[in-house]
Amino acid sequence: MQPRPYVCGWCGDRSPGAEGLEARRHYSLPPEENASGEITFAVVNVTGHLRFCEHCNYPTFIETFLQRPELDRQYPPPSFGEPLPGLPADLGTLYEEARHCMAASAFTAAVMLTRKILLHIAAERGAPAKALERFWTALEYLFTSNTVPRTYASWVDRIRDLGNETNHRIQLCTKEKATDSMAFTTMLLKVLYVLPAQASSSR
Ligand SMILES: [Zn+2]
Repeated sequence: MQPRPYVCGWCGDRSPGAEGLEARRHYSLPPEENASGEITFAVVNVTGHLRFCEHCNYPTFIETFLQRPELDRQYPPPSFGEPLPGLPADLGTLYEEARHCMAASAFTAAVMLTRKILLHIAAERGAPAKALERFWTALEYLFTSNTVPRTYASWVDRIRDLGNETNHRIQLCTKEKATDSMAFTTMLLKVLYVLPAQASSSR
């Protein structure tokens, strides 16, 4: 049995995937119409790998598609992005929820969570109830209270725009947009909470 390295979705560790089970099968993809109008049925060779993490011992199932690697899947999938230890409780929970959404390909839900994270940052930094009634006044509070320097306005605008698109228009969010929104949210949380905590603990 070949080792099948992977990132464990349970503990986040990179496991060499040396121990486990393997099964092979053939799988027919749904019929597709090619450019000349012919209906084709593709059969691919699928290998199912059951692997046990060397760190936490939990099992992970990985399916690899020999001719169609873009279809490869892992259950549970690896978490998206990096953990941010030391966030205030609610923000930590929302950020972890957003990471789980990304891992589960729930991109629309992830973008709506990043929008909610901005609101919670404003609340955590003392925004009055009136400012929290509307999304734009909560964002304005982030700047007027100097929670977020104006130089980061473009980050906040990007999260806001993607969140508004998702929240107010009848459309789903793409993986690319959700990844963008998560990247900006992660940077913002790092600048506001993680880096100041690291700086004060290293004094
Ligand atoms: Zn693990």
